[in-house]
Amino acid sequence: MVSAALAYVSRPLLSLTLERRRALGLFALSLALLLFPLVYDDDATIDSVANALSYATLALGLNVVVGFAGLLDLGYAAFFAIGAYYYGIFTSFQVMPAWSEAWAPLAFLGLVEKMNQGGPDLVHFTLSFWLALPTAAIVSAAFGVCFGAPTLRLRGDYLAIVTLGFGEIVPIVARNMDGVTNGAAGLNGIQAPRLFGHSFGVDSTPYYYVGLGLVALLIFLSSRLRDSRVGRAWMAIREDETAANAMGVNPVRFKLLAFAIGAAFAGMTGVFFVAKLQTATPEMFNFNVSSMLLVMVVLGGMGSVWGVVVGAVLLQLMQTWFLPQVTGWLHDLGELVGSQFLVGIDLVQWTQLFFGIILIGMMLYRRNGLIPATRKAPPLNFAAQHAEVTRGGFLHLDRIPRWEPGEGALDIRGVSVRFGGLVALDSIDINVPAGGVVAVIGPNGSGKSTLFNVITGLVPAHSGSIVFRGHELLGLAPHEVLTRGVARTFQNIRLFPNLTVLENVMVGRHARLRSGAVASVLHTPGNRTEERAAETSVLDLIAMFGNRLTPRIGQVVSGLSYANRRRVEIARALASRPQILLLDEPTAGMNPAETLELAEQIKSLHGMGLTILIIEHKLDVVTTLADTVVVLDHGVKIAEGRPEEIRRNEQVLTAYLGRAARAAIMEADRVA
Ligand code: ADP
Ligand code: MG
Repeated sequence: MVSAALAYVSRPLLSLTLERRRALGLFALSLALLLFPLVYDDDATIDSVANALSYATLALGLNVVVGFAGLLDLGYAAFFAIGAYYYGIFTSFQVMPAWSEAWAPLAFLGLVEKMNQGGPDLVHFTLSFWLALPTAAIVSAAFGVCFGAPTLRLRGDYLAIVTLGFGEIVPIVARNMDGVTNGAAGLNGIQAPRLFGHSFGVDSTPYYYVGLGLVALLIFLSSRLRDSRVGRAWMAIREDETAANAMGVNPVRFKLLAFAIGAAFAGMTGVFFVAKLQTATPEMFNFNVSSMLLVMVVLGGMGSVWGVVVGAVLLQLMQTWFLPQVTGWLHDLGELVGSQFLVGIDLVQWTQLFFGIILIGMMLYRRNGLIPATRKAPPLNFAAQHAEVTRGGFLHLDRIPRWEPGEGALDIRGVSVRFGGLVALDSIDINVPAGGVVAVIGPNGSGKSTLFNVITGLVPAHSGSIVFRGHELLGLAPHEVLTRGVARTFQNIRLFPNLTVLENVMVGRHARLRSGAVASVLHTPGNRTEERAAETSVLDLIAMFGNRLTPRIGQVVSGLSYANRRRVEIARALASRPQILLLDEPTAGMNPAETLELAEQIKSLHGMGLTILIIEHKLDVVTTLADTVVVLDHGVKIAEGRPEEIRRNEQVLTAYLGRAARAAIMEADRVA
């Protein structure tokens, strides 16, 4: 009966598209949240929920830093404190300079008022809550930038330690600047927000609605940012900073942006939090807060916007509602059975222990959190795979624009690279003519990959020059080299493992797009046109590999076959619309059929006018593709010429096969 009724109700729901269902769910949720304080009129509970909402906003901010950009920040509460003290100082009676007429304009704007407590006239700051929210965001973001600029060059553990220090310093400063912050006793008499002449006072309901509004705003901002050029850059940095840099992302700039936006979220929350409590003490912002926020993000799902909101609300309610409740039950039980131990228990004291247990549990059983950020597309079913096998390998190059002839000449002169005592490249000269294909071969360790690294700015050169289309490349950062029109792949495939095929290739387009954070959030017409055009051109590139990648654009690349990952990497490099493509052993690990197919595709790209520099071991590939072959051995160029000349070059054979083998081959040639 019940199930029949449920089926009857759910049938029309299930027939809706996923988007419609989402929208409906969101609407129902919003309605429930809006009505909650009206229906459930218990001030203490509403207060707990309002607090939980403020932690949700903090978790959303930390998620931008840790979840999106992958920067482990252990001192995030510092920005929360900065926003809190900013509002506290400018609304309480702590700092009261002497009045002079210079303050009159501010008084006119309602930011200060003249006060007299018996002595000379004083200034009382009366910053409005509504003005404080956005300005605190700006102030905190500015602190984020100042703090981030010197430290964000650090990675991983080092960054964690430095941020930990910053998180400790801010409360200490607050404790010691007595005159401004009233030290350990904290600020008192912080103004409650006023709306239409009414003060919020100590009633929890208006705070609940403001908190709800903040969470909604930050969810909106986070989602818009995540699905934009900015979000893709952050995630690329998180996944592989070097590869992101080589694909045109300026890591310092985007890390700073993440830090600033995260700090801005925290600053706004600080204002909300102390306006609600009407007091601010240094203890409210210590390391425990930062660590609790991290647990919230991990529990909800790093990088998952809705996940971290759920994580924050759950943990906060656990602390303020569930644990006290259970403690009460245990006390009752203790009295019933006469156990002093149970009566003495206070689970709230054990909060940190529960956090630890939750963290370990998540690491063991649900690494990606309650609501994982990457929704994994299901693998292709049999029919789709079959379709690929039978139709695979078709070229769809017609939609890729051709390259201008005469572009892409690369001139390498006298380039030397040393690693300590090791000379990896010794005064190398290579000339790649525009529209040509030059292959670099040589035994392992001969300096081929180092050559690519020095061209793309990943390792510095000791001497020489690399001129591309009339501009010197040496001394440029990797993202600047890419912007000049040089794109590469890596010998040991460096994709962004947890991003989808489409996202990976879209990152390659980064340097050719303009949208910043503001345009991405507002979805300006320019931004929308740009994104749509980018997606179309990227899909066209992906179609270059026939059915290999197109059916898989929604799949996370870490699950792809080796050959497909190589293809994604080539598509990603091409997405930047380079004038020269550097391929580092593109067919390594491919079977003969796949090798042949890829060689054909590279050949077609060449046919369309793209200049190519390729490192390759398979001689048949080299012979079919290259006009010129350069041979390196121990960092020295030992030969250069047409493929068939190189095949019979004595020095080359020695380098590859050793002296005895060379003699045998020469002998065989002579006899034949
Ligand atoms: P290939 O690609 O021809 O196999 P590489 O260019 O990778 O060779 O390496 C050339 C030499 O430089 C090797 O001896 C390698 O160990 C050394 N090398 C490469 N990169 C570095 C580095 N970052 N630091 C120190 N030595 C390096
Ligand atoms: Mg190599």
